Amino acid sequence: LPLRLPLNWDNQFHQLGAAFYTQIAPQPLPEPYWVGRSPSAAALLGLDAQALAAPELLQALSGNLPLSGSQPLASVYSGHQFGSWAGQLGDGRAILLGEANGWEIQLKGSGLTPYSRMGDGRAVLRSSIREFLCSEAMFGLGIPTTRALCVSGSDQPVARELLETAAVVTRLAPSFIRFGHFEHFASRRQHAELKTLADFVIDRFYPDCRSTPTLDGNVYASWLQAVVQRTAVMVAHWQAVGFCHGVMNTDNMSILGLTLDYGPFAFLDVFDPGHICNHSDPHGRYAFDQQPEIAHWNLYALANALLPLIGRPALAEQALDSFEPTFKRSYQQLMAAKLGLQAAEGDEQLPVLIRDTLAMLAQDRVDYSIFWRRLSHARVSGPFEPVRDLFIDRVGFDTWLLRYQELCAQSEKGPEANLMLKVNPKYVLRNYLGENAIEAARHKDFSGVANLLTLLLAPYDEHPAFEALAGLPPDWASQISISCSS
Ligand code: AMP
Ligand code: MG
Ligand code: MG
Repeated sequence: LPLRLPLNWDNQFHQLGAAFYTQIAPQPLPEPYWVGRSPSAAALLGLDAQALAAPELLQALSGNLPLSGSQPLASVYSGHQFGSWAGQLGDGRAILLGEANGWEIQLKGSGLTPYSRMGDGRAVLRSSIREFLCSEAMFGLGIPTTRALCVSGSDQPVARELLETAAVVTRLAPSFIRFGHFEHFASRRQHAELKTLADFVIDRFYPDCRSTPTLDGNVYASWLQAVVQRTAVMVAHWQAVGFCHGVMNTDNMSILGLTLDYGPFAFLDVFDPGHICNHSDPHGRYAFDQQPEIAHWNLYALANALLPLIGRPALAEQALDSFEPTFKRSYQQLMAAKLGLQAAEGDEQLPVLIRDTLAMLAQDRVDYSIFWRRLSHARVSGPFEPVRDLFIDRVGFDTWLLRYQELCAQSEKGPEANLMLKVNPKYVLRNYLGENAIEAARHKDFSGVANLLTLLLAPYDEHPAFEALAGLPPDWASQISISCSS
């Protein structure tokens, strides 16, 4: 008997029609067990702790029991991978159950679909825990992201570089539509479908672009501009928090400007602007400091796909041109907040201070998150010694500190200082923290996953019992290597 949950199903993507997907049910996952559950994500669906504890839910979200009201499907998309056109891709291991209470519910790792190509349709425990925790961590940080409701695991073996075990992540987003969905229909000159999909996204998520288009009355150009802006804001957040996505292919770019598809991502430990977190990216196309430029490149690919709808290349260019100013403004605001300073338009000292601060962190390979957290405490209530202790070049630091304190004096007693502890997280999902929780989970100890979830959902708060998890990473942390294959 299908499981009936108190959800209002409204499967709008399904209503788009057969050109956009293949209907397919998830493949059963043998003898599943809970690995992690997020009450915060469950609340989005109106599911309480009791609903989240139900054994039938475990079966349903592992693909073993149909959910009444769902209409499972795998969607088709294409995309550019590492700068080259990759042709058709699609949900190769994700299945959209449908949309309920305004959220698309997707199972990732739930088996073969027509778009699986050479893959097995499965996801391994390690990558599933990483996606689960990082989705919720980004939400906790206030960064636009898809969400993750839970992970279930199984002892079913899955072959990767090593033999691992299967897991399924249930993830949520208002929509999982990617740039690559539009590239798909544009590349096949299916302009009717291209328009259907664009109208679908505009009417549901960008209604202002139709009612009050900003670019010469052109709805599609105005919408492109809005996507450009949302994407620029998202990447500004990544750069400010020290997040490296790792696989910014156009099929991993959300049309809603949400961080999407957590694979070989990393939060920076030491501040290394050229950090490459994906060992399948030897040339560093997706290195940390390349991300804004790559986002812009991806938006070009999207704009190209939307040209048949926009009609006038000059308008598409104009939409794309808003990337840089939007990114810059957003990034400067975020960095000013991290510094506890006001970001005033036209301020020339602030951008220079930001640049020099980062250069100083890079030179001494200082831990990024710890620097900001210690700086926040020093600014609010204390000596700057703990910050100074992070540096080898003490003279350089002292010179910097004089300049910083001068700027602080100008906005003294403003609210910015006290807000620093609310914008500089104490807890980020460092790779080594994830690895420790994963290792325990392999031995069926899921407390590490649960503890990290609690910390990461409230990363600006103090959690005295978990002080050690806010410290410097151990030496082995820099040796962790994560590839695309997951
Ligand atoms: P990614 O690099 O993870 O964004 O994946 C790129 C494409 O490969 C997408 O179409 C995925 O659905 C597909 N894919 C990734 N891993 C698998 C897998 N294990 N089985 C089937 N398809 C996969
Ligand atoms: Mg992907
Ligand atoms: Mg992926």
